Amino acid sequence: MLIVFIGPPGAGKGTQAQRLASHLNVPHLSTGEMLRDAEESGTELGRKAAAFMKNGQLAPDELVVKIIGQRIEQPDCARGCLFDGFPRTINQAEELDRQLSLDQRALDLVLELHVEEDELVRRLLRRAKHADKPRADDTPEAIPKRLEVYRSLTQPVLEYYRARGLLREINGQGTPEQVFARIRDAVETRQSS
Ligand code: AMP
Repeated sequence: MLIVFIGPPGAGKGTQAQRLASHLNVPHLSTGEMLRDAEESGTELGRKAAAFMKNGQLAPDELVVKIIGQRIEQPDCARGCLFDGFPRTINQAEELDRQLSLDQRALDLVLELHVEEDELVRRLLRRAKHADKPRADDTPEAIPKRLEVYRSLTQPVLEYYRARGLLREINGQGTPEQVFARIRDAVETRQSS
């Protein structure tokens, strides 16, 4: 299955996406992780992306599309994969559809992990305060910016997928186990349809 996982910062997307990928036994493709790895390796792409990441801004579409385009061509993605944190703009969503269609493939499901904004702010502030190794974009100053970026650029992506009948909203409140059970149900419903 080809699944996209979308959620605002602080919704618990990373943890749940990782868990779903291992449950389905498909690669977990997190563009955030790929960009941080590229930054640590000191590649040019990593250096370019880092300047945006530290301000809570999105990296340029062409950088992210390039990195994900190379990754989905790898043989381990032939059975499917889980996109985490990608696409984050309409342009990225269109590019992903285009790249998949070149291989006669298409997305099966888009999951939106939904958490109310005041709860997100509480979680992000707690994370910024307690992180032993805070990431540059986890600072209290970057929080409003990241939420605003999500609202203005990523929420339209949800509409893009809703219009194509691919979107399932998952309630992200509750224990990680409760949230994962909802995700598993949504995936099983899609698999049996
Ligand atoms: P994440 O770990 O998914 O929260 O991503 C961390 C940061 O990486 C984001 O705040 C962006 O700066 C950058 N990033 C990750 N994925 C994308 C994407 N699909 N498009 C643009 N920037 C991204």
